[in-house]
Amino acid sequence: MRALSLIEDGRLALVDLPEPPAPGPGELQVRMRAVALNHIDLWSLRGMAFAKRHLPIVAGVEGAGEVLAVGAGVTHAKPGDKVVIYAGLVCGHCRACREGRENLCENVGGIMGFHADGLARERITLPARLALPAPAALSFAEAACAPVTFATVQHMLFDNAKLERGEWILIQAGGSGVGSSAILMAKDAGATVIATAGSAAKLARMTALGADHVINYREDRFEGAVRRLTGKRGVDVVFEHVGPDTWAGSLLSLKRGGRLVTCGSTSGVSAPTNLLHLYQQQLRIIASFGASFRNVQEAMAKMARGLKPVIDSTLALDAMGEGIRRLQSRDVFGKIVVTLP
Ligand SMILES: [Zn+2]
Repeated sequence: MRALSLIEDGRLALVDLPEPPAPGPGELQVRMRAVALNHIDLWSLRGMAFAKRHLPIVAGVEGAGEVLAVGAGVTHAKPGDKVVIYAGLVCGHCRACREGRENLCENVGGIMGFHADGLARERITLPARLALPAPAALSFAEAACAPVTFATVQHMLFDNAKLERGEWILIQAGGSGVGSSAILMAKDAGATVIATAGSAAKLARMTALGADHVINYREDRFEGAVRRLTGKRGVDVVFEHVGPDTWAGSLLSLKRGGRLVTCGSTSGVSAPTNLLHLYQQQLRIIASFGASFRNVQEAMAKMARGLKPVIDSTLALDAMGEGIRRLQSRDVFGKIVVTLP
């Protein structure tokens, strides 16, 4: 079967792999139909010095497919069902897993597509508990954006930042996959949204998605614009995933007691923080990575009632490397999704 494999740092190749084994007890086999791209794919492609892994590995962290066969004891899915794959190899029995906080699993065995073989392949056999049923109303491409993109945003906005109706939120890089999803979900929750992007075309598209105010961060200091828009007060919540390029300004955009939630650092990994400002303003910084099974289900329920992910483009499996490199260019609005026939 065909798969897209990371052969060495920086080099992806289409390879022919043996068929996966028939599902054993507690396992199922999925025919992959869509894989959504994320910044973690770009980190993976570049090579991560601290990631313990042995190449080659199959790429792809976020995806959806159709169940082909189930092993003994699997009752929550049957052949023909649409499922999404939770790529964290969580143990299922530690305290965090038992309490439904799978992204804090104490025995996590890595992330498929990053530390271990991932989802960019025609068929996969995996533990059935990592395949979550998806609503039939969603296309495979849409469902593929649930387990990482939409679920991460769900976890950030509601479990972590506890965004409430009537609050103001600043969403950085609102044209990205998580940024566009955050605009949709924050508006759906009744917040007032300020979103940033670096081109007029992206600003127009963010407005069309429902953003109340948009700022071109290349033309305007966004922290000044936020102060003007909020009558000097600042926003209740900042949604961060850019890192060094925006970090200081994001903290300056918060009102006293405001919350910054972050899930990424696409512009680098270190940024200075004004600690005096941090504690005098009683700011809260909340770090977020991944999501729980519950968040994936919440995300899919929102998609099924109309919050459809913004899909920039769909690509064939052999073009996945180009798609990942496009993420670096920032010339993307929404999600790039690889589809498999
Ligand atoms: Zn666990």
